[in-house]
Amino acid sequence: MSIDRALFDQVMVPNYAPSAVIPVRGEGARLWDQQGREYIDFAGGIAVNCLGHRHPALVDALKQQADKLWHLSNVYTNEPALRLAAKITADTFAERVYFCNSGAEANEAALKLARRYAVDHFGAQKDQIIAFDKAFHGRTFFTVTAGGQPAYSDGFGPKPGAIDHVPYNDLEALEAAMSERTCAVLLEPLQGEGGLIEPVPGFIAGVRALCDKYQALMVLDEVQTGVGRTGALYAYMHHDITPDILSSAKGLGGGFPVAAMLTTAKVADSFKVGTHGSTYGGNPLACAVAEAVWDEVNQVPLLQGVLTRGQRFRQHLEDINAEHGLFEEVRGAGLLLGAALKPAYHGRARDVLAAAVEQGVMCLVAGPNVVRFAPSLIIAEDDIDTGMHRFGQAVAKVVAG
Ligand SMILES: *Cc1c(COP(=O)(O)O)cnc(C)c1O
Repeated sequence: MSIDRALFDQVMVPNYAPSAVIPVRGEGARLWDQQGREYIDFAGGIAVNCLGHRHPALVDALKQQADKLWHLSNVYTNEPALRLAAKITADTFAERVYFCNSGAEANEAALKLARRYAVDHFGAQKDQIIAFDKAFHGRTFFTVTAGGQPAYSDGFGPKPGAIDHVPYNDLEALEAAMSERTCAVLLEPLQGEGGLIEPVPGFIAGVRALCDKYQALMVLDEVQTGVGRTGALYAYMHHDITPDILSSAKGLGGGFPVAAMLTTAKVADSFKVGTHGSTYGGNPLACAVAEAVWDEVNQVPLLQGVLTRGQRFRQHLEDINAEHGLFEEVRGAGLLLGAALKPAYHGRARDVLAAAVEQGVMCLVAGPNVVRFAPSLIIAEDDIDTGMHRFGQAVAKVVAG
């Protein structure tokens, strides 16, 4: 039996369409495939590998914990989970932390907590959740329904109710949808999957003010923007506000599956013993790795480096665009960037991705019209330059047709 892309179609549920390339080894911002071909990784496992591949501090944390204890379940607590939660509460708005395993699970917990908090404090009629068009919050049925792409939630039977959507960046539309019935407003501080849509100045603070006015909880989905990705530990820190609940995943484990829901002591109180849970949540291996990630990322030089690296990316993209004129706009924050295709190239983001892989550089898409970059937060300048050189060659091929 040969272990190759063809095997995927024989043994896997066909809900993904992976590249023909099968990476087998990584180091920093580089990957090697089965044939030994090298790639620069600007995809970072979809904003997950925030310290690149095989970072020594993470490898060390995983190996040390692997020799001690792998799993207990929440019948017992464990030292890595307690240490990590202590750090998260010390360094963010959060006073309480709930651990789980994926972004969708963190958002699922956030929405359930918001609903239960409303029941506890205001009554069952306060159940409306407002989210935004084009938002992405995960693939459980509750979170995918909260997401703003009905195509992802249609076709599975009756949807969870009392979820409404309004346009992102439109405070008037948001207020028009709000009332005493509003339980929570759920949003990304920078829409990732939706196409790297930035909040306009004042939008995030405006959502906070409206949540206060209607006694609704502000739930920030920082699954993609969190853990240094935008040049702050969490993106809310750019906006001079604090949310009531925040979900974190992707970068949190640097490649080890782990997620967290952060909240205040008052809101946390609505999750009593038995209200919610997860067998693997707070798993010692996951938390040991996440603690090492936290220690590395939550440092001023690293976070500043995200901004200077982001600038270098933007400059390269603008230079490439000056030559080839493929992009309408480069947007995003820190090392979460999107190059939006001009209308003449709409629908071709996947073609750019395929051409890039052929040139030896891996990127992402965010919808059909945006090429997305979410590399290691500590990617070397030389890797940025080499990868962008390859990306420029890929763009040239796409433009040449
Ligand atoms: C990726 C993502 C999720 C879902 O995370 P999973 O780990 O795939 O469940 C939720 N919200 C945002 C903003 C994301 O980018």
